[in-house]
This record gives sequence, structure tokens and C-alpha cells, in this order.
Amino acid sequence: MAEVEAAGADFVHVDVMDGRFVPNLSIGLPVVEAVRRGTRLPVDVHLMIEEPDRWVERFAAAGADYVTVHAEASPHLHRTLRAISDAGAEPGVSINPATPLLMIEEVLPMVRQVLVMSVNPGFGGQTFIPASLDKIRRLRAAVDERNPTCLLEVDGGIKPGNIERVVTAGADAIVVGSAVFTHDDGIGAAVAALRCAISETD
Ligand code: ZN
Repeated sequence: MAEVEAAGADFVHVDVMDGRFVPNLSIGLPVVEAVRRGTRLPVDVHLMIEEPDRWVERFAAAGADYVTVHAEASPHLHRTLRAISDAGAEPGVSINPATPLLMIEEVLPMVRQVLVMSVNPGFGGQTFIPASLDKIRRLRAAVDERNPTCLLEVDGGIKPGNIERVVTAGADAIVVGSAVFTHDDGIGAAVAALRCAISETD
């Protein structure tokens, strides 16, 4: 966490996977609590899990500043997002590559962030899906119209070679895993390379 902070990251994004909503298992509450203790940066928890209603309060209590759930995993999305707000965290909603924007249109006014998956969630190191760019552009327009302070975050396959296109399409926040944590010269050099690649779009 110290290395991530020193690198100049704006937030820490934590992927929580349940082995059901996505075909992989990853970290849970104890790790989120440890991340919370280890950083002063906002902690952004991305729940790739079924039945998120059962868990959102506990992740908020574990120290998540943002709790993002998948539209595909919640039959009562409005209720789920309200529960996140009631638990004291900022509510976010995410959609998979095959999910149309229509799925989140009604809840746009009540979220602090929308997270567009630009790979099919479940594993790190996947390749960015190019069709995501058009989806980001359309979502940018919808967010500007319906909730201009909402963050548009993009997650999956982003690296120095494509980050500029993602930002130009309308992303406010970029989630990067492999391109940061597997960089030969360390996390600081990785974040610097990403920032350099988008400096001309600022
Ligand atoms: Zn994520």
C-alpha cells in the first residue's frame, strides 16, 4: 500500500470474487480491512459476487469508501444501492461487456460511480475489448445528462498503449491491475507511464 501511495495512485481498487458470479475466487473482508489499515487513499471495493445485498454492509464496515455492485447480480438494484448509502459508503454500479447501458439507466441519478467492465470479469491480465470504447462514449453522454458528478470508471485490460483512447472516450477513473503490478520497474514507474500516456488529453 505504501508503494501504491508513493506511486501517486488516486485510490485503491479491490476486486472481490465469489467463484459464482465470476469463475474465480479472490480476497474478502479481512483483506479489505487490511487494505483500509494500510492506506489513507480511498478504498474502492468492486463486488463481483452474487447476492450482494448480503454483503454490502459488511464491506462498508470493513472500510470501503466506495462499494460497487454488478447490475447483473442484483434483482433489486435500487434497494442494493440504497443499502450501500445507508451503510455509509458511496454506491457504485458496474456492468459486464455484454450488458446494455439500459440496465443502469434508472439508477444513474443515485450512484457516485459507474464502472464499465472492459474485459469479462474474473481474471487479471485479459485483453481490453475494443467495443468498450463506444459504450464509454454513450455512457459519458448519459452521465453528463443525468448525474454529472458521477464518476465514470473503466476496469480491464488498460495499459499505456490504450489508456489515452479510454480517457478520450470519457473515462474519469481508470482501474489498472497487471500493467501496474507486473511492471519490471515497479509500481511507481508503471503509474508514471500511464499518467504520461494521458498527459496530452488533460
Ligand atoms: Zn474491479
